[in-house]
Amino acid sequence: AKDSGRGRICTFTPDMNRRVVERMRMLSRARLAFDRQSFSLQYQPQVATSDGRVRGFEALIRWTDAELGPVSPDRFIPVCEDSGLIVPLGLWVLETACIEAMGLACRGIGGITMSVNMSAVQLAQNDFVPRVLEVLDRTGLPPNRLELEITETQMIGSLDAAIDKLDALRQAGVHIALDDFGTGYSSLTYLRTLPINTLKLDKAFIDDVHRRTDARSMVASISRIAHDLNRNVVAEGVEELAQWEALSRMGCDLIQGYFVSRPLAADRIDGFLAAWEERRKS
Ligand code: C2E
Ligand code: CA
Ligand code: CA
Ligand code: CA
Repeated sequence: AKDSGRGRICTFTPDMNRRVVERMRMLSRARLAFDRQSFSLQYQPQVATSDGRVRGFEALIRWTDAELGPVSPDRFIPVCEDSGLIVPLGLWVLETACIEAMGLACRGIGGITMSVNMSAVQLAQNDFVPRVLEVLDRTGLPPNRLELEITETQMIGSLDAAIDKLDALRQAGVHIALDDFGTGYSSLTYLRTLPINTLKLDKAFIDDVHRRTDARSMVASISRIAHDLNRNVVAEGVEELAQWEALSRMGCDLIQGYFVSRPLAADRIDGFLAAWEERRKS
């Protein structure tokens, strides 16, 4: 027993060390990237199932490091959260996305909502609400053109405080979306109690929606409940026409995914919009 105990420690420790060292390296590279402004954003369109028109974009952060290569946000966001770097970084994301949305409006592309992912760590800051409002003020983006995406797992532990902040933002006109719906815990309660405008159905639900009746009845039921509660429904990760058709029949309001477009660099948005308009009409 003693031996096997020691064996376990020996197999786990180097691995844990390696991970700690990796995270520290990533954090120091991320700090450097933040100082040098080498993060960027891409924008993925969201289109209405009803008429195929583009209604908004989700801003997604991108980072290619000189030493680490391209790093997925799924990997570096948690590191930035643990260290607090997400607070200034998230503010930069918000401001950059708002400026881009204003640019679209100035180029005559109206009625577009910009969706921005918010970390739990940002939401937990005391000055979260005034910070968001400041950015809107500074960039001139009307509050109802901004949607903040939050996840239910972020709410655990500080639900009342989170609800108060989200309420304050909603009062100001900002839209709130519940992201990754269906991957967390107590989904239906959150759907009812959180002050949200929009429900984003996770890709896990969407993958089989055109193939399996169980996936279809889940999506149909959730959509119906969401609509009864006056929430919009967005389907994420739509990759095929058959999924779009199924989702449209089930009353999903918007779809987002590779079928419409991968996330786009800012300078490719206009080209996409022109090409999409052609594709939509045909
Ligand atoms: P998310 O918010 O759920 O974003 C959707 C992810 O699915 C994105 O991955 C997007 O590129 C990907 N995706 C979109 N359509 C499809 C599709 O049709 N098929 C497949 N396979 N994937 C699709 P990405 O950009 O790698 O981001 C991963 C996660 O990182 C995001 O998940 C979000 O949780 C987080 N993240 C990204 N940008 C930010 C940010 O600015 N701030 C914060 N706090 N988190 C962010
Ligand atoms: Ca999101
Ligand atoms: Ca999501
Ligand atoms: Ca996600």
